[in-house]
Amino acid sequence: MQQCIRVEVRVEGVVQGVGFRPYVHGLARRFGLSGRVGNDTAGVIMEIEGAEQAVSEFLAALTVQAPPLAVIEQVRTSPLVPTGEQGFHIVSSNAAGRRDTLISADSATCADCLRELAEPTDRRFDYPFINCTNCGPRFTIVRDVPYDRPFTTMAPFTMCHACASEYHDPTDRRFHAQPVCCPACGPRLRLLDASGTDLPGEPLAAAAALLTDGAVLAVKGLGGFHVAALASDAAATAMLRARKHREDKPFAVMVADLDTAHELCMIDPMGERVLAGRRRPVVLLPRRPDAPVAPAVAPGNRSLGLMLPYTPLHHLLLRGTARPIVLTSGNVSDEPIAYQDDDARRRLTGIADAFLTHDRAIHMRTDDSVVRVFRCAELPVRRSRGYAPEPLTLARPVLRPILGCGAELKNTFCLARGRHAFMSHHIGDLENYETLRSYTEGVEHFRRLFDVQPEVVAHDLHPEYLSTKYAHDLADAELVSVDLVGVQHHHAHIASCLADNGDAGPVLGVAFDGLGYGTDGTLWGGEFLLAELAGFQRLAHLVPVPMPGGTAAIRQPWRMAAAYLGTEAPEELAGRNAEHWDSVLAMVSRQVNAPLTSSAGRLFDAVAAILGIRDSINYEGQAAVELEQRADPTEQGSYPAAVTRGPALQLHGVDLVRAVVADLQAGVAPEVIATRFHHGVADAIVRVCLMLRETTGVSVAALSGGVFQNVLLLERTVAGLEQSGFRVLTHSRVPPNDGGISLGQVAVAAASLRSET
Ligand code: ZN
Ligand code: ZN
Ligand code: FE
Repeated sequence: MQQCIRVEVRVEGVVQGVGFRPYVHGLARRFGLSGRVGNDTAGVIMEIEGAEQAVSEFLAALTVQAPPLAVIEQVRTSPLVPTGEQGFHIVSSNAAGRRDTLISADSATCADCLRELAEPTDRRFDYPFINCTNCGPRFTIVRDVPYDRPFTTMAPFTMCHACASEYHDPTDRRFHAQPVCCPACGPRLRLLDASGTDLPGEPLAAAAALLTDGAVLAVKGLGGFHVAALASDAAATAMLRARKHREDKPFAVMVADLDTAHELCMIDPMGERVLAGRRRPVVLLPRRPDAPVAPAVAPGNRSLGLMLPYTPLHHLLLRGTARPIVLTSGNVSDEPIAYQDDDARRRLTGIADAFLTHDRAIHMRTDDSVVRVFRCAELPVRRSRGYAPEPLTLARPVLRPILGCGAELKNTFCLARGRHAFMSHHIGDLENYETLRSYTEGVEHFRRLFDVQPEVVAHDLHPEYLSTKYAHDLADAELVSVDLVGVQHHHAHIASCLADNGDAGPVLGVAFDGLGYGTDGTLWGGEFLLAELAGFQRLAHLVPVPMPGGTAAIRQPWRMAAAYLGTEAPEELAGRNAEHWDSVLAMVSRQVNAPLTSSAGRLFDAVAAILGIRDSINYEGQAAVELEQRADPTEQGSYPAAVTRGPALQLHGVDLVRAVVADLQAGVAPEVIATRFHHGVADAIVRVCLMLRETTGVSVAALSGGVFQNVLLLERTVAGLEQSGFRVLTHSRVPPNDGGISLGQVAVAAASLRSET
């Protein structure tokens, strides 16, 4: 007979509120084992007793077959003396002690719930709030910890008898699923007109009918309100665009399933996996020329942002319309999205004809995430709903709790303790009171949820960023002493890329972005840094050019063309902007009101303006985005750019700009020129890196900054560097843009703490 053994097993990670204990219960029974399982402050703890062979099979299966929402970070076992215990038990939680448990992100409706949703005999048939331990709302409904129903926005709904017995049954899929509910006891839908009066009919059917008739509908989702219109309806989508004052930014489109997605876009297997995965981001994909989508959805774009339904409400709504819908954030221009009913009605009246809403409150406003696919991995553009607040695991634990305050645009913040970095959902551009308030409230919320009392606060060097001011105010206000760490913007970008890859450097960091405050007080943005987490040296950069009119040059890319070319500028460009042309040239030549910048983003702006793509922009980075969209993917040519020596290597962006003008005047198509320009930038980056490898001996490159959201540029750069024998680090967990800065700040601060000790 086989020997009987008993072991203690500790599992850490996202293992609470995801059905882990019932899973262990079922698994133990399958292997004929006895013992117990419970939660403690660090995760799940169990004691397993039985035949040696069965115990080892159980342990082998434990991580492999774990519930879909579980993220297992560590399993530790230690031997115990067998007790002869009979049966297997789930024991109650021990809530005392430090809170080290993790809250999972909101997750798309699972296959089991979808089956029940479509099953006429199921008691949740057609119920738009069906969920279980494997799916449903999480982060967006959590008001406080521990993650228990009374601390969620489900608190006002008292479970009916049937739901309660599922909730308490360890063998049930809904055991301890906090948002569990049904039509008898849970939230209800309402369809309201702009004045708040209920519209007649069954809300979902009536809402779908409104969309089919060409109306614009506000829909309460997981993290906020969307506004929706039929994607194929030219009039409705144009009306939506006009009412939102959103002149050009592409709208996301929700499709019912992968088959429909394939009708709209070209999708490879990785794209399919990301689209259909539980996080359900908006995925930017190359659109089919014949995609049945109205022109107003994504004007001038070769790609479309697609997503699949992620709540039962969305599934039912799309079944009703039987066609894809535009689903874009419920806000006016740059304000944060509305997430409370009163606020939504106030702000979205005038945009939406009707409101499909319900009585389950959203606690945390959370935007849809946006990703691209690059070389069989996700390239995050915005990391938010479905990802936050899941921690990013750090290669080494931080010695003291750290807050990274983030940048100004596309802000996120990041709290770290131990090996966990909790990066926030997307907060937005910290330019108005509303956004700043959701920032400060968000920091408070995260501090409470994850029990982090920051002792070190890392911030950008830009003195005018509201996130920098917040860091200083916090240091003044806290009772315990807080150490401030200023982190240079592009160093933070490269550190973010290092942390994303679990690397510590040294690397040749290429940080190409819009603008960031340099250590010399000028604006940087086309930087080559010899970097590790603790520090950096600026070894090369784009040759600085004046930004005539300061921030006006950001909004009006034609000014950058004037700055690069002066009187050499094409007559057409000067003609289009004749009114201010001479005064802008004067600013450039006299260097008045024209701060110098080495920004790569502004170089892309200049080229976009010269090609007639855009003289002024309506959202950040628009000219560069459209330049990439315009580029002909079949073109192979490139432009050369000189590199000269100085205190640092100087990369002459003006050479690329002149080549653009020469080709344009020779009658070459703008699509071809756009591609050659992208190739020219990539080739120049590779050349500079080769020169720097010679002097530094470093053969690892890290690519970061918003410009590297550009997949055309990224692909050519990575390929060129790899051909030259570099190992190349790119982003796959956090965005290369300023949304990833907060993680980089944390990584730099953590390294500086280590070097102090
Ligand atoms: Zn489910
Ligand atoms: Zn119920
Ligand atoms: Fe940046």
